[in-house]
Amino acid sequence: MGQAATRLGRRRLAALGLALILAWALLVQGGSWLAGQHIKATIPQGENILRLAVSGLRGELARHERLPDLLARAPVLSNALHPDAAPAEVAAANLYLRHVTRLMGLSDAYVMDAQGMTVAASNFDRDLSFVGQSFAYRPYFTQALAGGRGQFFALGTTSGKRGYYFAAPVRDRGRILGVLALKVDVDAIEDSWRAAEYEMIVTDSEGIVFLASRRDWQFRSLGALGAQARARIAATRRYDDEPLDMLPLARTGRVSGHQMLRLEAGDDRREFVSVSETMPEAGWTVQVLLDTAPARRQALQGAVAALLIVGAVLAGVIAWVQRRARLRERLSIQAEAQAQLEGRVKARTRELAQLNDRLSAEITERRATEDELRRTQRHLVQSAKLAALGQMSAALSHELNQPLGAVRNFAANAVTYLDRDRPQDTRANLARILSLTDRMTEIGRTLRNFARKPNAQLRPVDLHDVMRDALEVIAWRIGKRQVALNLDLPPQPLCVMAGPVRFQQVIVNLLSNALDALDDRPDARIDITARAGEGRVSVTVRDNGPGVPEGLDDRVFDPFFSTKGVGSGLGLGLSISFNIIKDFGGELRLVRDGQGACFVIDLPALEQEEP
Ligand code: ADP
Repeated sequence: MGQAATRLGRRRLAALGLALILAWALLVQGGSWLAGQHIKATIPQGENILRLAVSGLRGELARHERLPDLLARAPVLSNALHPDAAPAEVAAANLYLRHVTRLMGLSDAYVMDAQGMTVAASNFDRDLSFVGQSFAYRPYFTQALAGGRGQFFALGTTSGKRGYYFAAPVRDRGRILGVLALKVDVDAIEDSWRAAEYEMIVTDSEGIVFLASRRDWQFRSLGALGAQARARIAATRRYDDEPLDMLPLARTGRVSGHQMLRLEAGDDRREFVSVSETMPEAGWTVQVLLDTAPARRQALQGAVAALLIVGAVLAGVIAWVQRRARLRERLSIQAEAQAQLEGRVKARTRELAQLNDRLSAEITERRATEDELRRTQRHLVQSAKLAALGQMSAALSHELNQPLGAVRNFAANAVTYLDRDRPQDTRANLARILSLTDRMTEIGRTLRNFARKPNAQLRPVDLHDVMRDALEVIAWRIGKRQVALNLDLPPQPLCVMAGPVRFQQVIVNLLSNALDALDDRPDARIDITARAGEGRVSVTVRDNGPGVPEGLDDRVFDPFFSTKGVGSGLGLGLSISFNIIKDFGGELRLVRDGQGACFVIDLPALEQEEP
């Protein structure tokens, strides 16, 4: 992570460095190109300045060109030049020359004889007067003496001042007596050239600057001077004793055909582009040296502005590209997420489809199982029906066996009574047999109602009657064995809503079970107790037999549950009894308190009948 960060940082640093180098190169290259353009743009301005300067110079020269010819015609000059001229004539010439000088704004005016000796001068009354000086070495003198028009530029050897000299011959009746020379001051011309943006120089044919906007550039050469050139200059004493050193201007190149120059003089470092024009009539070259600093400054500003614009555009482009990249990245992430989601949805759909298939398979299987179950159930029902039929017939025989036993007993006794001729007892027995058959019919009906469809009407029944009838039915069994039967009933009637025969059937069942359990025990006893209280009547049948085995409390009431051996018990007694009591709105339950079995019948009590 850290390494990646440094790598990223290094890459950024490298990119920044590259950008800076590029920017620098752009600035330098673009700047120099722009500078060239700006410098080129200044050239027309330089040409204008040059044109003005040249025309100014030409005007100045033209103004004085013909003046010497005109002035030389004055007789006062030829008079003074006569070898035998009187001092008054010379004085007149002096005054005339001074007058002309002031009038025409000249520097000096003077006349020389044929040997070059100055005879009269406008500065005759000054300390540095030309009078008595010889200027035979000046070309303008020789030119004029030869009859021509002399022109010359030079540094005055007497005055030490630069000037332009015009000369013309002074004649007397066609004969040349001497030469008139006029010197024009050039300082005023130079003064008009002083400006910050450019320098102006005028060089002669030898390349020596004699007019310059900078005073320190005067009498300096542009190139190295050869010995011959120096000799030529010395012959005319044009620059008197000036050393004529070289100007520290180096040529550095050209811009659209114009020379570039660099000035290096100590702290004074400047660069110029030179615009020049020659003046063949004077043998001069006029140069305007345009300072390139403003152009370069403008170029630099332009380059910086361009760089800033390029930088801003570049930054904008980078930001835009980065934004695009980020957008693309976000879109690709979204697309990836979408693809993942779609993939997950597809997988989930596939799983669901598989689950669905499994579920449909299970449903089909379950349906098959259900069909199988239904088939099995149908078989079971069929079997159950058959079983119920068997059980019914078994129950019927079981319930009828008891009264049948009693009928048989009564019938046997009746036969005995008949033999002993006791018709009363016989009749009584027969009556009992009749009532027992009635009861058997009732039992049959009861068994039909076993499936808990009671159709018999309930009516108030006194427990005393029920007990009496039940004991009567069971008496034949009790008589056979040693059983102590205790009947504990309250003396007053105990009435409940019941079917008397079915209630009696229940008591017979309970007593019959007790007798079975006691099974000839020596101290066998059965206690029947009936109690009434709190709107209920309860009948308890208790024996001192082995009792119902542990864990069978509920099962003993199930139909066909029996612990008795095959052929003896059908397991229907308690179940029938339970249902009968339930039909009466009561409850039959097994109670465990001490030894033996104890069955309790609990019924809602009825209002006691008045005796
Ligand atoms: P069955 O008498 O034909 O066996 P019952 O429904 O009358 O059918 O009785 C079910 C079972 O309850 C009996 O087999 C017996 O095990 C038990 N039982 C009923 N009464 C008593 C009792 N007084 N003492 C002991 N066990 C009893």
